Amino acid sequence: MSILNLTRKFRILSFEEIVGQQLVIRMLKNSLYTDRLFPVYLFFGQHGCGKTSIARVFGMAVNCKSLSLFRKTPKKQIIPCLHCDSCLAMQKNSHPDFIEIDAASYTGVDNIRAIIESASYLPVIGSKKIYLIDEAHMLSKASFNALLKILEEPPANALFMLATTDVEKIIDTVRSRCFQLFLRPIASQDIQNRLTIIAQAEQIQYDTEALWVIAEQGNGSVRDALNLIERVRSAYPKISLDAVYQVLGKINDLLMKELFIALYQKNKNAIVKLLSSEAFAHTTPTVLWRQVFQFLRAAWYAKQGVEIDKGIEAAIISELANICSTEFLGYVTALLYKNEIQLLKTNTPRFFIEHLFIAIVTRTEALAYENDHTNIQKKKTDPVLSSAVDTTEKIICVPNTISTSSIADHAKRFLVEVQQAVTPMIYSLLNQAHFVVKQEVVLIILPQSLRMLEDVLKESESTWIDIFKKVFGSKIHYAYQFTKDTTCIDEKKPTIHKNMETTTIDSLENKTISLNTTNTRLYNEQIQTKNKTDFTDASKWPQVNLILKYFPGTTTFIE
Ligand SMILES: [Zn+2]
Repeated sequence: MSILNLTRKFRILSFEEIVGQQLVIRMLKNSLYTDRLFPVYLFFGQHGCGKTSIARVFGMAVNCKSLSLFRKTPKKQIIPCLHCDSCLAMQKNSHPDFIEIDAASYTGVDNIRAIIESASYLPVIGSKKIYLIDEAHMLSKASFNALLKILEEPPANALFMLATTDVEKIIDTVRSRCFQLFLRPIASQDIQNRLTIIAQAEQIQYDTEALWVIAEQGNGSVRDALNLIERVRSAYPKISLDAVYQVLGKINDLLMKELFIALYQKNKNAIVKLLSSEAFAHTTPTVLWRQVFQFLRAAWYAKQGVEIDKGIEAAIISELANICSTEFLGYVTALLYKNEIQLLKTNTPRFFIEHLFIAIVTRTEALAYENDHTNIQKKKTDPVLSSAVDTTEKIICVPNTISTSSIADHAKRFLVEVQQAVTPMIYSLLNQAHFVVKQEVVLIILPQSLRMLEDVLKESESTWIDIFKKVFGSKIHYAYQFTKDTTCIDEKKPTIHKNMETTTIDSLENKTISLNTTNTRLYNEQIQTKNKTDFTDASKWPQVNLILKYFPGTTTFIE
């Protein structure tokens, strides 16, 4: 028994074997049952979705001797019966009344003329002469015109079926005479079910996850998935995840998990080690890129308690989802999307991806601003981020060296210096902050409405932490606090701060923060300078000027 060519061995012979096209099958069976056959059928859909299989089964059913029985008792009689002369001839590919033409090989008008001529003869064993023209979009214009003539007045004993992946190329006059049937790409689940049936029938050893990966890889095509099974089977005794990954050149789930954890823990050594390992060296940058997104997506859904990708071991994804924060997943996704076009343009995609991973660790977005050299120079790439990344949980008590009265001066100095080092958006955020010294910690208080930018602010820490330490003292720590009272950004109502609620810092949340007048004044001054911001100085506002350069005219909003 040949182990090769599963596609041919498991050729579809009945409507029941066709997966994922229930609507089309219902229409065809109904037209058989009601004896309302159209002279021309047009099957269209992507490759591998079952167009020719369905057309052949339908053709077999039209000429099946049991058709009249099916019309009487549709629930008892299966159609095609597979046992009558006509059905047997179809299975042997020797039916005199079923003519299949590959239009890709026979585009010329002579072939169509031959069809037209033969269509006038009566069928030999079936009730109709059936013509299946596969890849019909490849027909020449002259062929289409010749075909059109017979489609306008088809002989009563002839039935035409056109199959195509590109329905737009079928000329309108032909298309409008067809009964059109759209076949959608087959769902991965349906493909997996079919693969399972075939694997069991062939006694192929398999892992369910591996079949899922193969089904997904099939992209809506059972044929492609079966071809992949054959490739795996020719090299490995069992269809396991590892075997499939090897054949596809993908990284295995455990290594991918290690990569994500190393990224999350900012472990540069581990990342470099992984990237230089044999497994990563053997994958292509495109495959790696897709796989990273696949993991990100699965981890996102796992965080919501939904298993989305059966191709990745559930335990691995749920472990990853437990370890990595939503913010981290969001950050990585955004960074990768931001750089996807660059990846397509570069001649050194592998190095580009490696560089991006390191950028994730250093939490800089230098790559996204690669045209802005001044900005890159300003970005700090110190991999060891300050302990302030998670300040809300890690406030360490140190001697307080700043008095409440001098905080305003410190904050002013900090803002002046930090303006040179950070992006305009970060500066704008810090500029709206209210600095308050509380016990041993400088609180950076922002309105609750800006909370969505907390991650952005945290990610920028490496660019301003040195200035912060220089101004406030190296032992001083800081923490963010967001007040629910959004009116605090309204300079006309500065006294509202008295009822400010703490929302992030557990250790401080029971204490009402009363702000002194110095702070309020400082805050008002900041609001005023913010409103008067002058963007003309390109050295201070490199990114804004870059945007203005490329988007001349009136820019009303820069995000
Ligand atoms: Zn039959």
